[in-house]
Amino acid sequence: MDLSNSRFIRFLLQDVKNEKETKDLAVLIRITCLILVLYYLVTGIAVSFMQHYVLGLLLIGAIGLIIGSFVLTYEDRTILSLVLLNIEILVFSSLLTLFLGFDLAFSITIFLNILLIYFNKTERMAHKRIYSVAIMLYQMFLAEISNAASLGMTPSPTMKMAFQTFNMLMFSCALLATAYAYCMKFNQAEEKLRRINDNLERMANLDTLTGLSNRRHMNEHLAGLVFEYNRSNKVFTMAIGDIDFFKKVNDTYGHDTGDYVLTTAAAIFKKFMNDKGHVARWGGEEFLFAFENMDLDKAYRFLEELRREIEKTPMDFKEFHFNITMTFGIEEFNPRLGIEATINRADAKLYKGKQGGRNRVVK
Ligand code: GH3
Ligand code: MG
Ligand code: MG
Repeated sequence: MDLSNSRFIRFLLQDVKNEKETKDLAVLIRITCLILVLYYLVTGIAVSFMQHYVLGLLLIGAIGLIIGSFVLTYEDRTILSLVLLNIEILVFSSLLTLFLGFDLAFSITIFLNILLIYFNKTERMAHKRIYSVAIMLYQMFLAEISNAASLGMTPSPTMKMAFQTFNMLMFSCALLATAYAYCMKFNQAEEKLRRINDNLERMANLDTLTGLSNRRHMNEHLAGLVFEYNRSNKVFTMAIGDIDFFKKVNDTYGHDTGDYVLTTAAAIFKKFMNDKGHVARWGGEEFLFAFENMDLDKAYRFLEELRREIEKTPMDFKEFHFNITMTFGIEEFNPRLGIEATINRADAKLYKGKQGGRNRVVK
């Protein structure tokens, strides 16, 4: 059974109208209210059987007030609901303790207040600490005065055990619900943070127009290749490619056509390099290729293949139909030179290719 689809669960998990940040708290209050309604109902019936009708009536009042707190979470009054619920728990647990004695463990529910208050992220930490200490002191105070003044009747040992067990059981349920809510909250926060992080990382690494790696990311990648080279002599070859007469494309067909050419070419590079290495947008219409585990000759053959593919790919954008060409300079990584100088050499060859008539790979 998929619980998340049930109408009741959806009702419980309903978002608060304005204060989005307190949705988790609202949900926790609602679950605690439901547990408490059941708790006071059963306790009310039990004390009525013990002919403790005043206490029975008080507990009916408690149920009414708790339903009130429950409803308030749907009215954008989560904090008011929390305050009321805390007071209700405090008052009714105290009354039950005073009437029936401390050792029946009714006062244990007061600890729920600490859990609830800690879940409220709008409250200051210092207040939470003071409140927790106050609750603990109050427990001690309650233990003292309930032993001294017995307002009610003395339950039989069986009754005592039944109440103790029931109190522990209900408190455990409320504790479980709170622990679950805390878990959900942390998991959600962690998941959200992870997604934001992934997005940030992607944004920091990718070129927005083409979706290829940017220069920064390529530099990181190349550093990795150099590390591998030094460790296990894995050769790699770098090539720098530049679109020929790209300014003319922009001037003749418009800047958006130029962008189209860049994205189309980038998609071809990405597919082509998929099993050969890595490609990045190095600058405006310049791209850097890293052919991994390949010496100069092998990478040259692949690059020639890519150059021909670019040359024969029709660029069809709006009413424009044309072809582009590219010029490349290629250089095998030379550890004596280092990355930067190797790229400079490839760049010098690219320049030579431009001088020599373009649409070629210079090795
Ligand atoms: P060559 O064959 O010598 O490389 O000639 P070219 O016209 O391609 O050379 P140049 O480097 O002078 O021109 C590059 C042009 O690329 C200039 C710039 O306006 C354009 N460009 C750079 N980035 C972008 C971009 O993101 N989109 C578009 N549409 N154009 C860009
Ligand atoms: Mg160019
Ligand atoms: Mg250029």
